Amino acid sequence: MKNLILIAAPGAGKGTLSKDLLSKYDYVHISTGDLLREQVAKGDELGREIQKVQEAGGLVSNEIVYKALENKLSDPACDNGYILDGFPRNLEQAKEYDNILKRSKRDLGMVLLLDIPKEELIERITGRFTCKDCGEIHNIYNDELKPVKEGICNKCGGVLTQRSDDNLESFEKRYQTYLENTAPLIDFYKEKGVLYTIDSSKGHINTLMEAEELLNK
Ligand code: AMP
Repeated sequence: MKNLILIAAPGAGKGTLSKDLLSKYDYVHISTGDLLREQVAKGDELGREIQKVQEAGGLVSNEIVYKALENKLSDPACDNGYILDGFPRNLEQAKEYDNILKRSKRDLGMVLLLDIPKEELIERITGRFTCKDCGEIHNIYNDELKPVKEGICNKCGGVLTQRSDDNLESFEKRYQTYLENTAPLIDFYKEKGVLYTIDSSKGHINTLMEAEELLNK
């Protein structure tokens, strides 16, 4: 299977598409956020350093991220294909990723851009509620994802909670960071001829179907 990079603004459905693809295909999910949190859990000096940066909402130094990623890519399980989530986050990381790929003898694969108007992102973010028990994502503004009983998970009956950063003010900050740092990756990958755009405003089932069509090309 082709390796995938997902590029998407906050709330565009990157997490949901990863989950949907992982439930059907034998991909390895590489989330740099998760890899860094694993290092934090070790409780050593490096872990403490990372934790400070994460808590302040900043970006962890490139060297640390590259090392964690390269280490993960040395796992033979990645030979079947992997989904890169949260990396690259800026142009510098995208350029270094080319070198990492050469060193680890892996292919860039495809880059999927989840496209969606900003107004819709606001509804998705401010209406998003996640089940505390099973992680199922709901949205009070979306008929497909709306909880049947307010505050209760449709799948397991658990209690729904809202992420502390899923409010309008925080969304604007995250969106700005996306526009400044991550959006320039679109042209970078377009020039390489590996960028494919999916209209993710039509719901997660359509998004998955479009992604699968591209994967089978
Ligand atoms: P995430 O789980 O993707 O939201 O990432 C959580 C935190 O981990 C971010 O706020 C950053 O501090 C750090 N992080 C994750 N990915 C990267 C990356 N590619 N470059 C730098 N820092 C990252």
